[in-house]
Amino acid sequence: MQERASERVAARAPTGPRPVPLGRGAGGPGGTVATGSRLGSNRDSTRQHNLSAVLGLVHSTSGLSRAQLTRATGLNRSTIAALVGELVQLGLVVESDLDQTQQQGRPSIMIEPSPDALVLAVNPDVDAVNVALVGLGGRIPSPVRFNTVRPPSADEVVNIVTAVYTGMRTSLPAGRRVLGAGLAVPGLVDPADGSVIEAPQLDWRGEPLAARLAEALGLPFSAANDAVVGARAQAAFGAARDVPDFAYVFGGGSGIGGGLVTGGRLVRGATGFAGQLGHTLVRTDGALCACGSRGCLEAEVTRRALLEAADLPRGEVEDLEEIVLERLRSDGPGSAGLREVVERQAGLLGVGLRSVVNHLNPSMIVLGGFLRILARTVPDVLDGALRAGGGHGPREDVRIELAPLGTDSILLGAAELAFEPLLADPAGNAAGPAPA
Ligand SMILES: [Zn+2]
Repeated sequence: MQERASERVAARAPTGPRPVPLGRGAGGPGGTVATGSRLGSNRDSTRQHNLSAVLGLVHSTSGLSRAQLTRATGLNRSTIAALVGELVQLGLVVESDLDQTQQQGRPSIMIEPSPDALVLAVNPDVDAVNVALVGLGGRIPSPVRFNTVRPPSADEVVNIVTAVYTGMRTSLPAGRRVLGAGLAVPGLVDPADGSVIEAPQLDWRGEPLAARLAEALGLPFSAANDAVVGARAQAAFGAARDVPDFAYVFGGGSGIGGGLVTGGRLVRGATGFAGQLGHTLVRTDGALCACGSRGCLEAEVTRRALLEAADLPRGEVEDLEEIVLERLRSDGPGSAGLREVVERQAGLLGVGLRSVVNHLNPSMIVLGGFLRILARTVPDVLDGALRAGGGHGPREDVRIELAPLGTDSILLGAAELAFEPLLADPAGNAAGPAPA
């Protein structure tokens, strides 16, 4: 059954709290497309679903041809043309030059994300507040890293983000609109209202930061743990695209976090706190952790220990990976001590990952942040600890990959939070928040 271009989606269902599947529409793992056969009594919801599926694909691929869209969705050409036409009218996609990569057949028009639809991404950390405007398709034109001399308070984060965002907004070209905002926090975030329950490294407890930022900026804010949103970015744009079962393990200044994805869905747990991989026990009677236990992965494997072993100041994180690789390669003075720290940390990371792999049986582990260094410098040590005793069962085939997105991964993930209502219901959310 065919839809007519004149039909508009009427549904304006509010998007309240609901499960957070990674895939939206067809754009991510586990996504589905409603085909014409499911039309009937529920025509509007089918149309909304199809708009969502098409926008999800354009977003996750950063652009594709009409022919590719038709193939990927299984919808017929005229339906795709109508859906794309509506997304163009909504200012969410643009049709551009013909796809030059087509070797045969008729050339097809390319459908790309419109640069006009933006969201704000915010990520406070122990030594900086990262802020960026992110476009559909995962475009981050000019992220801002605002360095702080000590872990910022929630008040300071509100002030910094307000100042940075005001500057960004005034320099936006005409026609650009900011639809919402996402906040990625190195700590526990209440999934019900986005408040920070606890961020030990920032010394925050019970901070309603998302609500405060929403009020200060006049934008709807969604919030989640930084590693969890990093996992979403890996699924949408990174190493784990089209991988339904993977674990993302991220190491930053605030510790180690994780996002577990199984069957294409983020594992949330009973109260939304699943994935606290930093508190996996790797050494009984080990170092005291901020959580009060001993021997947690994030107490034993730290970026600070690497910085100290490399004799670098605390804030010198941007080039840490290349500096460590170069020092170990050159075998110069001090490299033996550095190698010892790197090998020790890689071994303990392998022990921690062994638990993850045995529990979850992922096909891939994606390592982000400073954990990349351990995998790049001494992969045999990491692998040996992970597969100790022969690595039978789930440890046999698991692949270790490096997160390719760098520090942008967390910002992209925060942006995914903010894009979620738009991707679920493009027509209902394309205009953004009403002016206050
Ligand atoms: Zn702990």
